[in-house]
Amino acid sequence: MDLAALTIDRIRRGLLRREFSAVELATEALRFAEAENARTNAYLHFCPERALGAARRVDEKLARSEDPGPLAGMPVAVKDVICTRGVRTTCGSRLLAHYVPPYDATAVLRLEEAGGVVLGKTNCDEFAMGSSNENSAFGPVRNPVAPDRVPGGSSGGSAAAVAQGTAVVALGSDTGGSIRQPASFCGVVGVTPTYGRVSRYGLVAFASSLDHIGPFARNVRDAARLLGVIAGRDELDSTSAFAPVPDYAALLDAQVRGAKVGLPREYYADLASETGDLVYRGVEVLKRLGCQIRDISLPHTGYAIACYYIICTAEASSNLARYDGARYTTRAKEGETLIGMYRNTRGEGFGAECKRRIMLGTYVLSSGYYDAYYLKAQKARTLIARDFSGAFQQVDAIVTPVSPFPAFKLGEKLDDPLEMYLSDIYTITGDLAGIPCMSVPCGRTAAGLPVGMQILANHFDEAGMFRLADAFERAGGVEAL
Ligand code: GLN
Repeated sequence: MDLAALTIDRIRRGLLRREFSAVELATEALRFAEAENARTNAYLHFCPERALGAARRVDEKLARSEDPGPLAGMPVAVKDVICTRGVRTTCGSRLLAHYVPPYDATAVLRLEEAGGVVLGKTNCDEFAMGSSNENSAFGPVRNPVAPDRVPGGSSGGSAAAVAQGTAVVALGSDTGGSIRQPASFCGVVGVTPTYGRVSRYGLVAFASSLDHIGPFARNVRDAARLLGVIAGRDELDSTSAFAPVPDYAALLDAQVRGAKVGLPREYYADLASETGDLVYRGVEVLKRLGCQIRDISLPHTGYAIACYYIICTAEASSNLARYDGARYTTRAKEGETLIGMYRNTRGEGFGAECKRRIMLGTYVLSSGYYDAYYLKAQKARTLIARDFSGAFQQVDAIVTPVSPFPAFKLGEKLDDPLEMYLSDIYTITGDLAGIPCMSVPCGRTAAGLPVGMQILANHFDEAGMFRLADAFERAGGVEAL
């Protein structure tokens, strides 16, 4: 069985025709993933008991001739910031190295109810803060396409697992680009749904007003299938939306002739690079498919990075206050005082990036600075969101690069946090506006490094976004030109 070539449909067919059982597939997938993991460090740990239990339930349903579910038998990897009952959830942090949640995230429960088989938990930047996966306390992930390069971050492990073929699909989380950027760097599909489309219950909070759970897959159809399963209102997350969930996969295979696609000039201004050339070729493919390409403007784009790094650090400083050694975190040696114990626990437990963000966030929220920074950033956020609402009155979708450059070398940007922050320039606007956006593979550079094209759509128009991405993929992407 060629595990790296499996799709949801292929697995379903194989199970229904009794070519293999779900337990056989899970056993083989676990063996393959464990063996391959030495190359990338994509998984932090595996959960064979849970995986085989889920696979057994699929086989039992098949034996009773019941529908085994839309994701029957599908091997899936889950980013380690998403809670799994009885299975360690570390958030890539030393502080949570031994944390075993007593409950499951809603997204995980839903995908298992649909027949999915969770193989293990994937590596990530500590508390999802980073763009290279180098902020993990458990070592970086290597890009399966080029092992001396980063896989992107923070969901680097999930992207690498799907690219490497050790999972068919994966769950990641995105606050400022952590699904789309690693998808782009590893050459897979990555989707950030509308804010509130997928329940955040059980997603360890980084910046609550920006956090999303979303799928990785090797093709648009599988990403659409997975999103259809995990999306929808959840009583356990009051910010989850009531909007009905369409059958995304059934809406694919449609014509995109006549669709209006906007190219925001602010995103293309400094794009004289191989990445830029590839994205322009991607646009050419859309043109040949009959899309109408429009020049548009998103005038407040220039404020996005400053705005994001104020809001996300503010929210992070508040969310991370709970890791104090008194509850679920590893406790440092007792200090003389309670404050001393907190200080030791947090001082030893958090890595440099988390500490930097807690300090920045505490500063921008402090009295005297709140109005100048936090409040101002919230106002800028509104303007950025309005830019998008205005644009979607003229166009159906917006197409941009995902990242200014392809996967960079391990260690290359580690000493310059600001340079690392600037690499998020094209992805954070979508999170600030709360709109759906995705990365779809858009060819490779001369050195063979994958580049992603970003598609952004209006709130809750995942279906329109998928349709464009699927048409692009079916046309053969830029390789077809
Ligand atoms: N790279 C961005 C950051 O460091 C985005 C992270 C994310 O989306 N979780 O904050």
